[in-house]
Amino acid sequence: MNAVAGQVAGAAYIVAALLFILSLAGLSKHETSRRGVVFGIVGMAIALVATVVLVAAGAWGRQSGALGLTLLVVAVLVGAAIGLWRARIVQMTGMPELIALLHSFVGLAAVLVGWNGALYDTGLTGVLADIHHAEVFIGVFIGGVTFTGSIVAFLKLSARISSKPLMLPGKNALNISALALFLVLTVWYVITPELWLLIAVTLLALALGWHLVASIGGGDMPVVVSMLNSYSGWAAAAAGFLLDNDLLIVTGALVGSSGAYLSYIMCKAMNRSFLSVIAGGFGIEAPKSSDEQYGEHREIDAEAAADLLAGASRVVITPGYGMAVAQAQHGVADLVQKLRERGVDVRFGIHPVAGRLPGHMNVLLAEAKVPYDIVLEMDEINDDLSSVDVVLVIGANDTVNPAAAEDPGSPIAGMPVLRVWEAGNVIVFKRSMASGYAGVQNPLFYRDNAQMLFGDAKEKVDEILFQLSRSEVPR
Ligand code: NDP
Repeated sequence: MNAVAGQVAGAAYIVAALLFILSLAGLSKHETSRRGVVFGIVGMAIALVATVVLVAAGAWGRQSGALGLTLLVVAVLVGAAIGLWRARIVQMTGMPELIALLHSFVGLAAVLVGWNGALYDTGLTGVLADIHHAEVFIGVFIGGVTFTGSIVAFLKLSARISSKPLMLPGKNALNISALALFLVLTVWYVITPELWLLIAVTLLALALGWHLVASIGGGDMPVVVSMLNSYSGWAAAAAGFLLDNDLLIVTGALVGSSGAYLSYIMCKAMNRSFLSVIAGGFGIEAPKSSDEQYGEHREIDAEAAADLLAGASRVVITPGYGMAVAQAQHGVADLVQKLRERGVDVRFGIHPVAGRLPGHMNVLLAEAKVPYDIVLEMDEINDDLSSVDVVLVIGANDTVNPAAAEDPGSPIAGMPVLRVWEAGNVIVFKRSMASGYAGVQNPLFYRDNAQMLFGDAKEKVDEILFQLSRSEVPR
């Protein structure tokens, strides 16, 4: 019974692993992303059923077997119910914090699996026992860092704590010392696996995870989320070694390496050093708080904005987090349609980290049925912006901040931005003069060609639509 179940589960795991690879491949493009999600769901369903079958076969005829199986089924049902409920109610703007919270569960699970591996007598001896002890220690360490790191990320993203970087004196030395201590403790534990060493590494990892992410500033949070995604993958792989579960090892490695690669791509897109971000802002100094005065800003109302748009021939829209908060994407789609009917050339410019997760704006615009071919990436549109009559900056701030390009002392210096200030006119939709997520002032608002349209983005877009309809010539 056991041997047959083991073979069936082994085959099912291979199929599930292949489906996960196909899922990642599908998710890399808009057009195939739905298929990618379906592959992922089917792979996970197969993996779950195979695992339950494996546990059931192992439990067959054993006294404690029924209890283990019942606990497993209850855990799967409770987890599935909570997962379904959260996924149904989560807003798009709340996705990054939900993801951060889910990563923390993976980290916690890896710590618990590690502790279980240490307390459970495996009967191993010699080199095999040494390897087992190293696995336990490394698993607990990666899991602990992921657990508290993800909790800090969750707290920052949900604005429960400030997104400003924590700047402890000698923070880099602290991180490096923690890593060195971990290496020493690992060797010690392999030689003499004593319980206090395991307690020490757990506390060390929890403190390091907290400090690593607390040291990273708001502007770098997108990279942190994908970096924690990678850590959670490695934590799962470490748990896979301990549980002797091949699928967990493969899946963990897939998540770990794809998360690391995504972090690398995002660092390149934001002109950040990959190593400095994953090392908890290593080498990044505390930003100087800028109290520079940029002069007076100008305001515009919806009617004047509609007039400006009616007279334009080329318009670009650069949306940001505020469009998502206001749920203005449907109004924006209607505005685009109206302007295009009048012969205006309208396109979108999407910054790689606009909103609160990569692809956030693309998802919202697709939901509002904006045609894909007018939605361009930042690099595709930046050189055209100087020939555009009007740019509508709808709820974006950091991603259009000229200080990133022009002020080397700015905390976001060097991060590529949409050069909207090169256009003839810029209309900025936001509710106040407040700064964006990175907490940096934006000199764009004071430029001669920029005007502020204050208010909720959805209401303002609707007002402009109304004004444009009024000015339409009856046929
Ligand atoms: P920002 O956070 O820089 O700016 C958004 C602006 O929207 C704010 O200035 C706010 O101004 C305005 N706003 C908020 N609500 C409304 C509303 N209802 N109507 C009109 N305006 C509104 O967003 P960006 O998209 O430009 O930049 C993204 C930032 O988020 C970057 O700093 C990025 O690093 C960070 N980030 C990105 C992640 C990613 O993966 N993409 C993940 C985590 C962080 P006001 O309050 O005055 O209305």
